Amino acid sequence: MTEVVNTRNALFEAKRSGKTGVVMTMGALHAGHAALLRTARAQADFVIATIFVNPLQFGPNEDLARYPRTFDADVAMCEAEGVDLVFAPPVEEMYPGGQPVVTVDPGPLGGQLEGEHRPGHFAGVLTVVLKLLNLTRADAAYFGEKDYQQLTLIRRMVRDLEVPVEIVGVPTVREPDGLALSSRNRYLSDAERDLSLSLSRALRRGGAQRTVDAVLATAAAELAGIDVDYLELRDPELGAPPAQGSARLLVAARIGTTRLIDNTPLELS
Ligand code: AMP
Repeated sequence: MTEVVNTRNALFEAKRSGKTGVVMTMGALHAGHAALLRTARAQADFVIATIFVNPLQFGPNEDLARYPRTFDADVAMCEAEGVDLVFAPPVEEMYPGGQPVVTVDPGPLGGQLEGEHRPGHFAGVLTVVLKLLNLTRADAAYFGEKDYQQLTLIRRMVRDLEVPVEIVGVPTVREPDGLALSSRNRYLSDAERDLSLSLSRALRRGGAQRTVDAVLATAAAELAGIDVDYLELRDPELGAPPAQGSARLLVAARIGTTRLIDNTPLELS
């Protein structure tokens, strides 16, 4: 039975034992979230899912107001995946004093890639992640590689600030045709959905190349006619790309009014 709580006091009072795993979400759950919940269920004794659309990580012109909310279906998925506790606080419970004055500085990487196009986004993300880690007192936290820069910055925060939690990355779950699952995919019209396949195709074909130039040229060719925010090759920690060895190819693009991101690991030789 999944218990649903909305307040920090109820969260603190919930009985638990053993290793606690947390999956943080903004709701509108899909099979990508289910993969995180399943990994947490397999590795932890007590699984908490948080559902919170964090205003701090949305810019003034972003989709906070229209972000999809499907709470009953989300709780049903949590039930089906064996989640012990859902923590779904209202905004006032997370930010009782209004906007926090002290926030987490994501450092230089926070201003690159996604951060260049979404100023303040990663300070908002890291601040809420740290708050939710402290509130849930989780031993392990599960994040998707779909948001690879977010995962990288969370790992870095945990390392740099000595946060006592294990961070586990979970590979991206995709539709059979390659489109990475995202709560924002529901905004796409049929024509836009077809167009959005360029992103995963660019990553797949670019990712099959073995030199930096070939990777970028092949991926860029697949994105012709698409409104690309960035297409970048980096090392696995999102520093400058290596000449050989493991690397990460990341893309963000606007399809109509919907902004999509995706990434893939690859090997350079
Ligand atoms: P969100 O609700 O979009 O904030 O995402 C919550 C968590 O689910 C984050 O750790 C995401 O990286 C992860 N996630 C979202 N989409 C996917 C996906 N297609 N595959 C794997 N994880 C995902």
